[in-house]
Amino acid sequence: MERQTTYASTSRLETSATESVVIHCSDHRFQSGFREFLIDGLKLDSYALLAVPGGGHFLSLEPYMPKFTKANLQSLSFLIKRTGARRVILIGHDDCLFFRDRAEFLFAEKEFRQKQIANLRMARNRLLERFSLFAAEIYFAQAGADGILTFVKME
Ligand SMILES: [Zn+2]
Repeated sequence: MERQTTYASTSRLETSATESVVIHCSDHRFQSGFREFLIDGLKLDSYALLAVPGGGHFLSLEPYMPKFTKANLQSLSFLIKRTGARRVILIGHDDCLFFRDRAEFLFAEKEFRQKQIANLRMARNRLLERFSLFAAEIYFAQAGADGILTFVKME
């Protein structure tokens, strides 16, 4: 049986190692912006990606979502081990529907955005406890009224 090519990419297979693992939400509204930020903003040549609902929020939610957290941790451990990455990049975003649904009630901060950032900081602590990393960075994507996404690094 002959098969016709559906599409041939202009991008080539990446043959060099990567030092970064990125964890971000799978929300369709942010995918193009995330990709652009990672390549043009952070100048990453390549990265391994874990895109799941809520992105890195799962890392600190083990008591509330043990199975979800365990499955995601297995994927993350695999990526870190296989790539040898020592840098993990967490990207949160405005209006995260997963966080609103599953985790917002756990936080006392006033603003929705502040609740997410508080949790991402805990997530970063879990990352640093669990894995041997030299960097675990948090960025937060804020959506303007014009739809433009701005990315802010969180300490
Ligand atoms: Zn989200």
